[in-house]
Amino acid sequence: MNETVLLERETQLQSPTVNLGTQQKKFSLYLPNAYKDVSTLDWEDWHWQIRNRIRTKEELSKIIRLTPQEEEGIRRCNGKLSMAITPYWASLIDPEDFNCPIRRQAVPLEAEFIYAPHELVDPCAEDRDSPAPGLVHRYPDRVLLLVTEQCAMYCRHCTRRRLVGEKKQAAAPHKLDAAFEYIRSNKKIRDVLISGGDPLMLEDDVLENILKTIRSIPHVEFLRIGTRLPVTLPQRITEQFAAMLKKYSPLWISIHFNHPKEVTRRCKLACDLLSDNGMPLGSQTVLLKGINDRPFIMKKLMHELLKMRVRPYYIYQCDPAKGTSHFRTPVAVGINIIEKLRGHTTGYAIPTYVIDAPGGGGKIPVGPNYVISQDKGKYTLRNYRSKIYTYLETA
Ligand SMILES: *Cc1c(COP(=O)(O)O)cnc(C)c1O
Ligand code: SF4
Repeated sequence: MNETVLLERETQLQSPTVNLGTQQKKFSLYLPNAYKDVSTLDWEDWHWQIRNRIRTKEELSKIIRLTPQEEEGIRRCNGKLSMAITPYWASLIDPEDFNCPIRRQAVPLEAEFIYAPHELVDPCAEDRDSPAPGLVHRYPDRVLLLVTEQCAMYCRHCTRRRLVGEKKQAAAPHKLDAAFEYIRSNKKIRDVLISGGDPLMLEDDVLENILKTIRSIPHVEFLRIGTRLPVTLPQRITEQFAAMLKKYSPLWISIHFNHPKEVTRRCKLACDLLSDNGMPLGSQTVLLKGINDRPFIMKKLMHELLKMRVRPYYIYQCDPAKGTSHFRTPVAVGINIIEKLRGHTTGYAIPTYVIDAPGGGGKIPVGPNYVISQDKGKYTLRNYRSKIYTYLETA
């Protein structure tokens, strides 16, 4: 019997029931054969998932049959933005499908080493707007605080690929003192977005110290975390962790979701735990060629998110970071996706499509134009079905 047949999802473990603490929620766990001897206790331990990430060609070829482009991609991506795939994420890969959206986000391709002329190392010029290590201050009232360079799974389209990845030697604890001092002495900063890397890669007590420090600054009103771990490593969201976050409420969480296949029952459990502990959840999605560039896929994703209390927030045009041109779509593709959402489904399911302006101009919304003309208080508008209406401003 060949390997792929062995790995067929039909041959997966029959669904052990996992008890997640006091919530007593039950769900079925399906594992590919490569993980069939892993105990549920290990599988549900996020540190086990991190320790057992797939880092090499040899490990990955036990799950999927690699193509030459993938083998070359894995060979060359040593160092920055190295390959790392959690067993959980690997269990979602369709081993038969080279174009599986889960696979394409995680397995490097040789194409990552082809640079288009306009691509940049730091496409949004974050380093230029950095007043202290780990801090980006671009907008008047808010800052981005980068607290780690590590993620559970390294997305092949990552815009911060210049920073993100595993260090050869253990990374020194991030020096954020200057960043905290900058926020403390800048009364205009009312909003701090904690990102990275992935802040949820930090141990509970380390992240708690960061939250506590920021919460002790009286003029910071709005506190947010950007993360992908509920998607790539939902085991990270333990009851204890959610209870810790709850102490720093109001705390908003933005989660990076790209495809409806990512919305699994396990992911939903993680999101429920956050929501039930009072965290409002939003989503961020990167528009990716061959992954989510069709309107029906995006619509399905947005509906799946709403069903688990995640409010769609942004769709990003894929930034021109070096080695990402195989992921980039024309801007018209994004505009068309919004066109196919607005009016056709609830406004709650419609994120804002933005281009983060190269050179550091910030996020600029782009979308269909519904104002056909405007003249002396007379607006000519079109609706989602392209019917024309007139609105008169004057009494
Ligand atoms: C995206 C971003 C923010 C947050 O922007 P919102 O529109 O408030 O979500 C803040 N700072 C930087 C540098 C950013 O890129
Ligand atoms: S989770 Fe975010 S920071 Fe980490 S690799 Fe993916 S896109 Fe980059």
